[in-house]
This record gives sequence, C-alpha cells and structure tokens, in this order.
Amino acid sequence: DPDKARALQAELKQKGVKYCVGAYVDIHGVPKGKFVPIDHFLDFAAGSELYTGYALDGLGQRPNDDEIASVPDLDGLIILPWNQEVAWFPADNTFKGQPYEINTRVALKKQLAKAADMGFGMNLGIECELYVVKYTDDGQLEIPNSDDNLVKACYDVKRFLDRYTWLDKVSTTINDLGWDLYSLDHEDANSQFEFDFQYADALTMCDRYIFFRLMAKQYAAEEGLLATFMPKPFADRTGSGAHFNMSLFDLQSGQNLFKRAPEDDPRGLGLSELGYQFVAGILKHGPALCAAFAPTVNSYKRLVRRGLMSYYSWAPVFNSYGKNNRTNSVRVPMAGGRCESRNADAACNPYLAATLVLAAGLEGIRENLDPGLAQEANLYEWTPTQLAEKGICELPRTLDEAVEAFAADPFVTETLGQGLRDEFITYKSEEWRQYHQRVSQWEIDQYARLF
Ligand code: GLU
Ligand code: MG
Ligand code: MG
Repeated sequence: DPDKARALQAELKQKGVKYCVGAYVDIHGVPKGKFVPIDHFLDFAAGSELYTGYALDGLGQRPNDDEIASVPDLDGLIILPWNQEVAWFPADNTFKGQPYEINTRVALKKQLAKAADMGFGMNLGIECELYVVKYTDDGQLEIPNSDDNLVKACYDVKRFLDRYTWLDKVSTTINDLGWDLYSLDHEDANSQFEFDFQYADALTMCDRYIFFRLMAKQYAAEEGLLATFMPKPFADRTGSGAHFNMSLFDLQSGQNLFKRAPEDDPRGLGLSELGYQFVAGILKHGPALCAAFAPTVNSYKRLVRRGLMSYYSWAPVFNSYGKNNRTNSVRVPMAGGRCESRNADAACNPYLAATLVLAAGLEGIRENLDPGLAQEANLYEWTPTQLAEKGICELPRTLDEAVEAFAADPFVTETLGQGLRDEFITYKSEEWRQYHQRVSQWEIDQYARLF
C-alpha cells in the first residue's frame, strides 16, 4: 500500500531515521539485509532490494541465478534503540514477484495459512536463555567473573547484579518495544541468563526472537562482552535452551484451544484433547523435529543427562512427554493450556522450527493421534531396559543422527518443499562432516601416547 508507505516514510524522516533495513534470515536464522537510505523508502517497501542468494547460506541459489528480492513487513517496524537512525523491519524473500520458497519465514507463513484453513492460529512463547561472556584474544570463552567458581549459580542474586547494566538495557528495550517482560533471572550456570516476555502469534514471536538475539549481542558488545546463543559453550555448565511454549487458538473467538481445567482432564495435566493430539504429532516426528530445534554440532552436547557436570542438565534426552517433569522433551507446564518443546535450543532458526512443529502438531490433530502415557519419573535415571519397556526412544544423539531422521521423514518434504529441505540437509551434513573429520585435542591427549 503506497499511501501507508508514504505516511510511514514521513514519520520515520521526522524521527530522524536515515536508513532502513529489511531483515530476512538465512538458513541459520541469522538476519541479512541491505541498508537503504530513507529517501528510497517507497521503493524499499515495494521490494526494490535484490540479493545474490549464492552469497548466503541456505537460500538455494547458484552464482548464475537471477537475484532474489526482500519485501519488508512494515508492521514489524523497530527503530533500533541503540541507533535511532536505523529502522529495522522483518522481511521475506521473493523471486520474480512470488514468495520465495527456500526461505524459512515464507515457510512459516505458509504453514500458518494451513492452520488457518483448519480455523487455528498458533501462539508461541520462546524462553530466551543465553550466556554473557568474555571472548578472549585467542578465541576462548571466559566467564567475566572467572575467579568465581560457584557451581550452582541458579537464581543467584549477586551474579545477577554483576551484569545489571546489560540486563537493564535489554529489559528496558523489551518493554519499550511493548513485548512485556514478565520474568528475568540468573540461570543455572554462572553468567547464564533468561528473559521471558509475553507470548504472541508465532510469526511475531519468531520475528522478536531474531531481534532479541541481535539486541542482546549489541548491548553486551557495549560492555566489552559477548552474548552467545551457542547451545553449549561450556562442557561443565548447563546449555542454553529456547523452549517453545505453544498453543492453538480459535481464529474466530481468540480462545485458547489447549486449555482444560485439570479436574476435567482425565490425564490431569490441564490440556484439551486437541492439545494431546498436538503433542502426539510432535512425538511422532520427534527425531526429525530435533534437527530443526537443535541444529548445530554443539546442540547435541546440550542434549545430555549431565555432560561433564555433577548435576543434571535440564535438557531433554528422550522423545516423551509429561507434566511439569523437565526430563521429558515435551512438557505441559503446571498451569496447563500449552505444551513446551524443551529440545529447542538458543541457536535454532525459530521460523524453521515453528514451521515444522506446527505441521507435526496439526498432523496429530488431523489423524487424531494419542500421545500415550505422561511420564512422571526422573527419566534421566532410567535404564535402557526400563525405557524399552515403556516404549520411550531417545532423541538423536548427534547432529548426524538428527539430520538422518530429518532426511528420512517424508513429512519434512511435504511441509518445507523439496528445495528448503534439501538446503538444510546440504548445509547440516557438511557442518557435521567438517566437525567429525577433524582431530581434536581431546583425541591427542587420549590416544597419542596410549597407543
Ligand atoms: N538451560 C536448560 C536447557 O538447556 C533449561 C533450564 C530450564 O528449565 O529453564 O534447556
Ligand atoms: Mg530456563
Ligand atoms: Mg521452559
């Protein structure tokens, strides 16, 4: 709508904005875009910016292909709080005027349209965990207060206050943007934090999560620190999740369709039948989904019972569900009315993960699937025999296994289309190969003199 764009241009100019960027993401969920001077805003809004897709990871182009364009979503405007001369918009890619299929935000919109055909909207809340560390000149990660070896730093007030300046900048921005921060804490490991803001419709939440990562990094850099969303930066400390809290709502009435009073729920979790079917769909495609929720080599060092820690990781290892029990990959938190996928990690591309998990959940509804029994025990302690008796299988243990499950599940191709599916597999297989074929210091230490 040119009139809307013209009005917005005038408003932005008046606010002192000099550049606008329409940020789409690559396969990793990293934002990309050109900076367009505000005088060219009308062209920008109409999709003037062209990109050679081969310069980007996972956008499916060869060097000889025609360029893809980006079209900003004007409703997603954020004037960068730390640089008010720049206006940020989430964006989609198009190709010859059509939505470009090898783009994860486009895929999510397509999947949301399928949900809408069934009368559903999807609400999503992503819990934002991350570390704020020092990145040393020789490329090491260090806890800023490194003399401090506190093992159980969870909810620690002193460690929280140590990072107050950064925490306050991030929190203030979240609230200024109207995202409504409701909780903030020092997480389980020293220098690990969590921000929780209100859920929103899935597309909006994914846009926010992309922006959140950028903002957290910016404010940390201002303190000479690195905010990292790497899933498991330290072998002996907990990893960083990005738990997906999900529910469907009725597009007509806005009512949450997963909610049921626990006393009316025979299984007592406070979830509707529709909610259980959604969970069953997630479990059915659990191994394939894991590749999108936990998409890096490093992700699988988080999805362990303990790692090198003396205490549990809080990260899931099994494809199972239960009540508040955090040893399941899918949890129905205390209040009910939603389900939470806990294998999602902070490095995930939220659009890709949301697309697939929604598709899986909808399949569960269409096929009237049943998730079986909720698991109440501490599954971390169970033996392989106990797990086999209950029919509980493990989540993939490496990126390689996850990508294999992703490639083997036809539902992925149906949901993403061949192009996006193949791109993901190509990138992730290569990532695994690069990692796996390297000889690490651990191996030298372990074997060089032994054999
Ligand atoms: N940091 C944990 C993870 O890797 C989650 C802790 C929690 O339950 O908040 O998923
Ligand atoms: Mg947490
Ligand atoms: Mg959680």
